[in-house]
Amino acid sequence: MKENKDNPIFKTHLKSSNLYVGGKSRKEIDSGGKKIYKLSSNENLLGSSPKALQAIRANVDNLSEYPDRTDKRLQEALSVFYKNELKVGQFITSNSGSEVLDLIIRAFLGEDLEYITTNPMFKPYQMFSDKMAAKQVDIRLLEPDYSLNVEGVLGAINENTRLIFLTSPNNPTGTYIPKATLDAFINRLPEHVVLVLDEVYFHFAEAKDYTTALPYVLAGKNVIGLNSFSKTYGLAGLRLGYAYTTPALAEYVQRLYKPFQVNTLALEAGIAALSDTEFLHKTVTLIQKERLFVYEHLDRLGMQYWKSQSNFILMKPKTAAKELVERLQKEGIMVRPVAGFGAPGCVRVTVGTRAANAAFIGALEKVVIF
Ligand SMILES: *Cc1c(COP(=O)(O)O)cnc(C)c1O
Repeated sequence: MKENKDNPIFKTHLKSSNLYVGGKSRKEIDSGGKKIYKLSSNENLLGSSPKALQAIRANVDNLSEYPDRTDKRLQEALSVFYKNELKVGQFITSNSGSEVLDLIIRAFLGEDLEYITTNPMFKPYQMFSDKMAAKQVDIRLLEPDYSLNVEGVLGAINENTRLIFLTSPNNPTGTYIPKATLDAFINRLPEHVVLVLDEVYFHFAEAKDYTTALPYVLAGKNVIGLNSFSKTYGLAGLRLGYAYTTPALAEYVQRLYKPFQVNTLALEAGIAALSDTEFLHKTVTLIQKERLFVYEHLDRLGMQYWKSQSNFILMKPKTAAKELVERLQKEGIMVRPVAGFGAPGCVRVTVGTRAANAAFIGALEKVVIF
């Protein structure tokens, strides 16, 4: 059978162009035998939380049995992580941050409903929402510093608006929304709108006026904080994420849960990772120190870039982005062109270990024509 617009089997808003294609895996790369540094997907170059790996090994022989019936033990561990300020029932958990995002979108969006994005942004907000036949309204971040267009976003809200997606620190820009800006913004949101604040990179932020969604959720606002175990905990391959919000909104989104919502290994690894303060500290210290090393060399090379509160840096090379990516790839350095994230001409590089960062700078010096 062929798909055409007269055939009612196929929903017209389910487009193949709405499939999110992530960065390449290292197996797809030919570096001519050179050591490959994967700096294209904001992964943790220190590897995975050792406590999480230990939990996975301890449970790998139990896979013939179903996991816990509910995510209660993970919710309890999350509650402890948030020092009991958030309670069991306030979390939404699933097999990846992306899947939590999809649950939220399916819970609140639909035909004739609208959502607001602020490009440059993490593309899945749009891709998943389009699958619900919802209408996108994009209010671009303001250049040159990619700040939030507060009046623009508030002015774009109408009676059909349900979700607003903001990201802090933002992917791919590395920039953040200051607390005073977010306070004022959230105070002016109408009751029928939910703010999704994607904070999967929050551990890396060190700006004094940075904030997560926590104070707003505690104040009972319609705000959802979105998190993932992929980046800081080094568990991107495992697929585990969570969100937290008010008890009412969490319970509502949980109505979309499937039986045995989170797989056994992810459940056990997530619980263990949350208590792995040593690995967390090591990761965050490394990134905050190594960002400065990369800045120093980008300054020296005259590369345009944005200061980052995250584990990656957005750059704007004078060379075409695609060409730079290909040339670096031949040197064994994988970075990400982010035109698809609304930043044409720009390239995003993950900050890693000193060896990885030095290899990146060395390769950049070799391939860029200044
Ligand atoms: C990586 C990422 C996520 C979620 O990643 P998962 O691997 O699906 O948990 C969500 N938002 C942003 C901005 C990201 O960069």
